[in-house]
Amino acid sequence: MSLRDIPQVEKVLQELGDTGLPRPLVTAVVRRELAALRKKAARTTIERDAVITALRSTLATLHAQRIQPVINGTGILVHTNFGRAPLGPRAIETLADIGSHYNNLEYDLTGGARGGRAAYLETALAVLCGAEAATVVNNCAAALVLVLRHLALGREVVISRGELVQIGGGFRIPEILEASGAKLREVGATNKTTLGDYARAIGKNTGLILKVHRSNFFMGGFVESPDTEEIAALAKKKRVPFIEDLGSGAVIETKLFGLEHEPTAAEALKRGVDLVTFSGDKLLGGPQAGIIAGRAKLVAALKKDPFFRALRCDKLILSALQTTADLYLRGEESQVRTITLLAEAMEKLRARAETIVTALAGAPLKASIGTGRGQVGGGTLPRSSFESVTVDIVPRIPLEEFARRLRAHTPPVIGYSERGAFKLDLRTVFPPQDDIVVASLRDAASL
Ligand SMILES: *Cc1c(COP(=O)(O)O)cnc(C)c1O
Repeated sequence: MSLRDIPQVEKVLQELGDTGLPRPLVTAVVRRELAALRKKAARTTIERDAVITALRSTLATLHAQRIQPVINGTGILVHTNFGRAPLGPRAIETLADIGSHYNNLEYDLTGGARGGRAAYLETALAVLCGAEAATVVNNCAAALVLVLRHLALGREVVISRGELVQIGGGFRIPEILEASGAKLREVGATNKTTLGDYARAIGKNTGLILKVHRSNFFMGGFVESPDTEEIAALAKKKRVPFIEDLGSGAVIETKLFGLEHEPTAAEALKRGVDLVTFSGDKLLGGPQAGIIAGRAKLVAALKKDPFFRALRCDKLILSALQTTADLYLRGEESQVRTITLLAEAMEKLRARAETIVTALAGAPLKASIGTGRGQVGGGTLPRSSFESVTVDIVPRIPLEEFARRLRAHTPPVIGYSERGAFKLDLRTVFPPQDDIVVASLRDAASL
């Protein structure tokens, strides 16, 4: 294709028709791609149709990158790629109500003057965590950075080598420490750290002792580390703060759902930890947030740190978290979406699977009911999987193509392949989505 043959922007836009994207965005993409073609034109030959096809594919990719709901059939309850915890109806009502009105975010209705931001939420979280006080920042990483900067800027953070972990993408404990201006003081070995190791490392320049919950992996075999109580006693004797990064933030007993026990904030604090940090949008089932709970003096000091202001949450997050905390405090946690999903009875899942399989009769595929091993995910309970029921599909078309079509569906449906079948775990599919699942499976299987 010569320079002269490269189509004009206007003509291309006309030919593309409605792409479902805002026009200025499409124009910008077309301009960019045509400009790139002009550079290449001298060296290569490109068909006009190929230009249009390439543009369509670029625009389709861009369109698919818009944040949109997906149906999660992976059985991973808190999936970081899927926005972690989905919110339940009560939190959504709150979002609509608070988001669409003025509110008393920083206004004291009793005194008629400026008031504390999210004062109720802080009290509620403190009670939920069995803590003297609590506060909230943007996420658990921010909570950790705030704590580290405030208590250990330019000083040493004593941490076991077994806890220098990477949690998910781009979150490595040593890097977070460094970014906070703290110095890493590793103690012990990967699989074994003793109280003596901690004791020897504590000195004049110690800012704090950090314990990190090994949330996304499990170490077995010859493994030893001191009890939280022992480290807490040592920290107290040496007068250094003892912080535990719990990560996942269960506030209720996870064994109730057939999972292994996940340490709760209240437990850690009872064992003598001074502050805990955990995520709002993992097992807790709230919006993205980082909760800090523990000693009132430390929490108050953190809130006075100028850096706190840069990490504060907005009204929507705070109000959705407030509703989530209230549900737990009122014993209505079954309405927290993550808990609703975890608590769904196996018989119910099986009944739904039967309905789906029956509804697929006549489609060019083989459908059957299978078993799933769902996981909490999101860096929680590495060993724990829960019982679940799957719909297993063997389509006549290649499995990869089938999965690709389901991802291209609106809304996209995402599952996993195992032993030649495409599986959808119904525990993470919301019951009202079952009809959509049936329709999308039929569409995707078509020959
Ligand atoms: C998930 C996790 C974090 C990071 O939490 P975010 O809310 O994603 O910032 C930190 N520490 C632990 C132990 C975690 O599991």
